[in-house]
Amino acid sequence: MLVIMKNDATESQVEAVVREIKRMGYRGIPIPGALRTAVCITGNEGPVDDSRLLSMSGVKETVRVTKPYKLVSKETRAQPTVIVVGQVAIGGGKPVVMAGPCAIENETQTLTIARIVKEHGAQVFRGGAFKPRTSPYSFQGLGEEGLRLLKKVREETGLLVITEAIDHTNLELVEEYADIIQIGARNMQNYSILRRAGRSTRPILLKRGFAATIEELLMSAEYVMAAGNTDVILCERGIRTFADVTRNTLDLSAIPSIKELSHLPVVVDPSHAAGRSEYVIPLSRGAIAVGADGLLVEVHHDPAHALSDGRQSLDAEQFASLMRQIT
Ligand code: PEP
Ligand code: MN
Repeated sequence: MLVIMKNDATESQVEAVVREIKRMGYRGIPIPGALRTAVCITGNEGPVDDSRLLSMSGVKETVRVTKPYKLVSKETRAQPTVIVVGQVAIGGGKPVVMAGPCAIENETQTLTIARIVKEHGAQVFRGGAFKPRTSPYSFQGLGEEGLRLLKKVREETGLLVITEAIDHTNLELVEEYADIIQIGARNMQNYSILRRAGRSTRPILLKRGFAATIEELLMSAEYVMAAGNTDVILCERGIRTFADVTRNTLDLSAIPSIKELSHLPVVVDPSHAAGRSEYVIPLSRGAIAVGADGLLVEVHHDPAHALSDGRQSLDAEQFASLMRQIT
């Protein structure tokens, strides 16, 4: 349930409503909006008796939330959420480009690619320091050394950095270095990492699991928000279908459907969807055309020698072409 406050409700009236909700045995989470604040009630299993709340000063009305996800839902917040990180606004209308290698390999590789993506207009540098690989024999990432190189990228180029945390203890370390923390497709339903992400002060980019429905993705985002972190960016990165030409199937319809259900920004990772660099530009154009708030794209200065996902990485020239086509 949502308790809708009057336009002129004071902060102390909102606090009184939150206290009353607590007294009823639930949790009240204030959601400030452009015109008024709503207080979202979570923790109830059945219907909530709203009679006491309706008689409180500053309260306009109560509205039932019909979706199983509440904080994530558009029912709770009608306007799109804009997540501001440094100088970058994600969800603010202009698509944000996050680009870089699949994995941080060494200093020269990292800084070379960072300069390329910066030169062509990316706002965020991506790069994995901890890599969840399908094979235990594949390169697993440089670990903390990789995080230090990301810090260097931020210092040298001014780009924001995004990198993946692979479990809840690892997130502790990653948040010291990253501007945005990525939770990968394989971890979308790892509830301990989601809860820990909910206590982080960094925005979270949550990737859709490759066998997850939209509702499951939104429920995972709800875990993060319910634990206190409202800065969640959703990411469509392709799902598994019977199609075998591409690595995954980019579900472009996920973008308008999520936008209908949720106020959170949605970005698209065309690289892991395609698995091949030659499909990345057309898929990116499609993503922007259907309303994506940004792209997360793999770029490598020497894809043939990349330690991870070279086959789907754009080289400098291809990345320049992508940027020309989408801006
Ligand atoms: C990645 O972004 O490098 C990655 C591992 O992605 P995903 O979790 O979508 O497979
Ligand atoms: Mn990758």
